[in-house]
Amino acid sequence: SQAKRLLIVSNRLPYQLSEEDDEFKLTMSSGGLVSALKSYMENSSADFSDMHWYGNADFSEKEWAKASEQLAEKTDAIKPVFIPKNLKEKHYSGFSNSTLWPHFHYFPTFTKYDQSDYKAYYKVNEMFAKKIIENYQKDDVIWVHDYQLLLLPEMLRRKLPDATIGFFLHIPFPSFEIFRMLPREWRENILRGMLGSDLVGFHTNDYVLHFQKSVRMLLGYESKRRLIQTENRAIRSDLFPISIDYHLFNKSFDKPEVKKIKRQMSNLMPNMKTIFSVDRLDYTKGIGNRLRAYEHFLKENPEWHEKVTFNLVVVPSRDVIKQYGENKRKLEELVGRINGAFGKMGWQPVVYQYRSLNFDELCACYTGCDVALITPVRDGMNLVSKEFVASRKDLKGVLVLSEMAGSAAELGEAILINPTDLDELATGIKRALNMPLMMQSRHLEIMQERIRTYDVNMWAQDFMTELSNVKALQASKK
Ligand code: UDP
Repeated sequence: SQAKRLLIVSNRLPYQLSEEDDEFKLTMSSGGLVSALKSYMENSSADFSDMHWYGNADFSEKEWAKASEQLAEKTDAIKPVFIPKNLKEKHYSGFSNSTLWPHFHYFPTFTKYDQSDYKAYYKVNEMFAKKIIENYQKDDVIWVHDYQLLLLPEMLRRKLPDATIGFFLHIPFPSFEIFRMLPREWRENILRGMLGSDLVGFHTNDYVLHFQKSVRMLLGYESKRRLIQTENRAIRSDLFPISIDYHLFNKSFDKPEVKKIKRQMSNLMPNMKTIFSVDRLDYTKGIGNRLRAYEHFLKENPEWHEKVTFNLVVVPSRDVIKQYGENKRKLEELVGRINGAFGKMGWQPVVYQYRSLNFDELCACYTGCDVALITPVRDGMNLVSKEFVASRKDLKGVLVLSEMAGSAAELGEAILINPTDLDELATGIKRALNMPLMMQSRHLEIMQERIRTYDVNMWAQDFMTELSNVKALQASKK
C-alpha cells in the first residue's frame, strides 16, 4: 500500500537555489518551522514516508527546470508555485501585509481596503490549490500555514472532499469586533476558507475563542468543546502554542564560536550591564515605546548612567511598505536623540544595528546580556522570548516581556509589562537590572522546564495527532 505523504504548504518555500559555473545548488533555510518538521519526520513515531513542500520560490520557472534536470530526485520533494510578479506583489505586500497583517495585529487604521489586492490574494490561493490538487494522492495529509493562505483549505476541500487538511495560523486571530470591520465578502470567505480544513490551530486560547465567536456571529455555526459543527462536517479549532528547538538554543551556551563573540562584546564594554532586544522592523514590535521607556528610565535613574547599554538590533523587513519605512526613520531619530542627550565619551547608551544576525551572533547576544527587553504591542507568539529563556543555561538574566505577546501565556515568571505604559516599562527595566541572582535563576528554571517539555517537535506532533483524531471522529459520525 501507498505510504502516507505529508504536504506542507507555506507562502515561502524554505529552499534557495544558487548556480555557479552551470552547477546548481539547493540550500534549505533554517527557520523554526523547517527544523520542527524535519525533526518531526525523523522521529520514529511519524508514519509519513515523504514530506513535500509547496510555496513561492525566489527562482524562476526556467531556472527550476534546468536545476531539476541536473539535481534529479533531490528536487522531487520541492514544489515551487510560480506566480507572476505583479500578482505576487499584490498578494504579499498588498493583501497579506497591508491588510491582514495590520488588521489581525489590532492596527485597523493601517488596514488597506483594496478590492484588487483581495482579487490577487484570491487568485494566488487558487494557484496554490491547483498545483496541490494536480499532485495530490489519496491519503496525503495536507498542512497549510499562515495568513497568506487563508482561502486555500476551502479551495482544496471543494475538489478533495475527503482529504485530511490541517491549517495553522502563526499570527493572532483578532477579536470579533476587529474582524467584523472587514468587508462582508472578505470576512466570510476568510472564515469559510479556514473551515475547509479539519483542524484549525492557533497559538493561544484567546485566538481560538475569537475565531469561534467570529464563526458563530458571521456564519451561524456553533462551537461545542472546540468542535465547530457545519452543515456536513465537524471541524476542530484548538490551541498549539508554537515552540522552539530547546536543545539547540540551550547547547549554544557552550558553543565555542558563541563564547568567542560574547567575549569580544564584553571586552568592548567591561563592567557594563547590557539590555538586549532583537526584532524585525515592524510597528507591531513596539520598538518606539521601548526606546522611549529606556529614555525615561535614564532620565529618572542617573545612577545607571555609564553603567548600562542597550544593544538594539533591528532586522530589515518589508521595507517597500510605507509604514515600515516611516517607522525606521522614527526609530533612528529616537536612537539619535537618546545618544545625543545622555551619551558621553566612552559611553553610548544605545548601540543600534539595522541588520540580521546569524545564529552564533544571536546566541552570543542572548547569553551575554543581563536583560532581554521584549515589548511588542501585539505578537502572535514571539519566539525570541522563548529562545532567550532556552539559551540561558547559566540560569542568569531577566526577561522583561509584553503581556501582548502570545508567549506571555507561557512565560508568566517574566517581568510582564504593558508596552504602552512607559512608567511601567521603565520600572520593569529597573527591577530587571536590580533582580537578585537567586530570583533570576528561580524564574528561568521554571520557564525552561516549560519550553523544554513542549518544544517545537512536540508542537508538530501534537498538531498531527489532533488532526488524525478529528478525522477518526468525523468517520465515526458518518
Ligand atoms: N532571527 C533571525 N535572524 C535575526 C534575528 C532573529 O533569524 O537576525 C530569528 C529568531 O531566532 C526567531 C525569529 O527570527 O526565531 C523571529 O521570530 P518571532 O516569533 O520572535 O518574530 P517574527 O519575526 O516571526 O514576527
